[in-house]
Amino acid sequence: MRALEPVADGVLVATSRTMSTTSTVVVHDERALLVDPAWQPDELAGLAAELAGRRWTVVAGFATHAHHDHLLWHPGFGGAPRFASPRTARLAADDRATLVAELGDFPEDLVDLVGRVSPVDTIPPEHLPGIDVELVVHDAHAPGHTALWLPRSRVLVVGDMLSDLELPLPFDPDDLPAYLAGLDTLAPYVARAAVLVPGHGTPTRDPMARLEADRRYLSAVAAGRTPSDPRLSTPDMQETHRRIVAMASPSSTSSTP
Ligand SMILES: [Zn+2]
Repeated sequence: MRALEPVADGVLVATSRTMSTTSTVVVHDERALLVDPAWQPDELAGLAAELAGRRWTVVAGFATHAHHDHLLWHPGFGGAPRFASPRTARLAADDRATLVAELGDFPEDLVDLVGRVSPVDTIPPEHLPGIDVELVVHDAHAPGHTALWLPRSRVLVVGDMLSDLELPLPFDPDDLPAYLAGLDTLAPYVARAAVLVPGHGTPTRDPMARLEADRRYLSAVAAGRTPSDPRLSTPDMQETHRRIVAMASPSSTSSTP
């Protein structure tokens, strides 16, 4: 079994020991939408056991973007349809071999299930009785990256954006303007949200603080200042910061003499 922490009425989150990756369950009348279940095989099995123990049936899955840690599934979740934005679904199919390789040593039965998502602009309501979901699609962090807005509970499941652990990651492809546009797309939802669930890190009841932190960080980098940001304390994020500074530097776009 695996701990599922409620973050709002009908919304629960499990957090992986790997990169604090979150799995989100949205449930109504014992029927569940499962978003980005992750990560390690024992954790996926534990989540399946937890759902079964609660007698919840997974009626749909959703992948927020086409990165290897967001395209996972487990036989214990059953054969419900899995969805993603059209660009995410296309990338998940086209890049499947690379995405599977990035998982490293992974059980064959789980590899078979990686990235088996169908493209949708909205999740067909017949798959989600009693659950309202609006998909918010943009191209920050990954093409076709999708946040899920749950208006009834005012929860924003935001994928790999607005994390308390990770800096902005505008690397797929390297594109700061697309990242800033993605933040703008999310902003009105963040403003209305009571709870925000990031793909890696800690859910928060102060969603706007996450948006402001990312904008503050990116503004400082654009102005050539060193941001004061607690996320810079880990070696991984220091390397990420160096990449972003290089992207934002005017010399990165000028030709070599
Ligand atoms: Zn990602």
